[in-house]
Amino acid sequence: MAGEPQADCLFCKIVAGEVPATVVRETETTVAFRDINPQAPTHVLVIPKVHYPDAASLAAADPKAAADVLRAAGEVAAEEKAESYRIVFNTGSGAGQTVFHAHAHVLGGRGLQWPPG
Ligand code: 5GP
Repeated sequence: MAGEPQADCLFCKIVAGEVPATVVRETETTVAFRDINPQAPTHVLVIPKVHYPDAASLAAADPKAAADVLRAAGEVAAEEKAESYRIVFNTGSGAGQTVFHAHAHVLGGRGLQWPPG
C-alpha cells in the first residue's frame, strides 16, 4: 500500500532501526542521518518515515510529510551552522538517484558550484 514500509528498501530499514545510521535529528514524521559517502563537510539525508519512491510522489500523496522533510532539512542546516547550503532531491537514475525512498540531501560546509554536474 502507498506509504507503507517496503521490505526491500534500505531507508525503510533505517527508519525501522534494522540498519544502523548516524541519526542527527528525528521527528514524528522524519529521520535525518549522515550520508555514508559524504560529498561535503555537512552531508545529511532527510527522509520521510513513510515510503514513497521520490520527492514528487511524496508531495502529491502526503504534502505534510513533504513539508516536514523541508523543515527538518532547514533545521539540520541550522544545527550544522551551514550558512549556505543546498537541498537536493535526485529524481530518477539519470539524475543520480540510487535509493528509491524520497530523501533530501542537505549539503554544506564548503563552496558549492552551479550548475551541479
Ligand atoms: P541518491 O543517490 O539516491 O540521491 O542518494 C542516496 C544516498 O544514500 C547516497 O548519497 C549514498 O551515499 C547514501 N547511502 C547509501 N547507502 C547508505 C547507507 O547504508 N547508509 C547511509 N547513511 N547512507 C547511505
